[in-house]
Amino acid sequence: MATLITEECINCGVCEPECPNEAITEGEETFVINPALCTECVGFHGKEQCAEVCPVDCCVPDPQIPESEQDLFVRAQTIHPDQADTMELSDETSRFRAA
Ligand code: SF4
Ligand code: SF4
Repeated sequence: MATLITEECINCGVCEPECPNEAITEGEETFVINPALCTECVGFHGKEQCAEVCPVDCCVPDPQIPESEQDLFVRAQTIHPDQADTMELSDETSRFRAA
């Protein structure tokens, strides 16, 4: 699932620089995530970094966009072609494998 920012967002901006894919931008009312760029941090982190830093816990899985680990991994490789060959799936780079 892509991650979604709910209307509870207080526009603190803390999440924006934490996203490995630059998927987060300031929207009209709240910060927003581009689902085409969100990999749930697969390829980089074992947990969604926006959710980790959000002070009001408003970064949540979007149930409307279910995606497999493999789909998200391929997206990460596509977004970062320079790192595609060295990118790995492990408990440190995929929330699907993290404890
Ligand atoms: S889950 Fe990760 S990739 Fe998706 S928006 Fe949040 S920080 Fe970016
Ligand atoms: S960290 Fe949370 S509250 Fe702050 S801008 Fe991001 S989504 Fe909104």
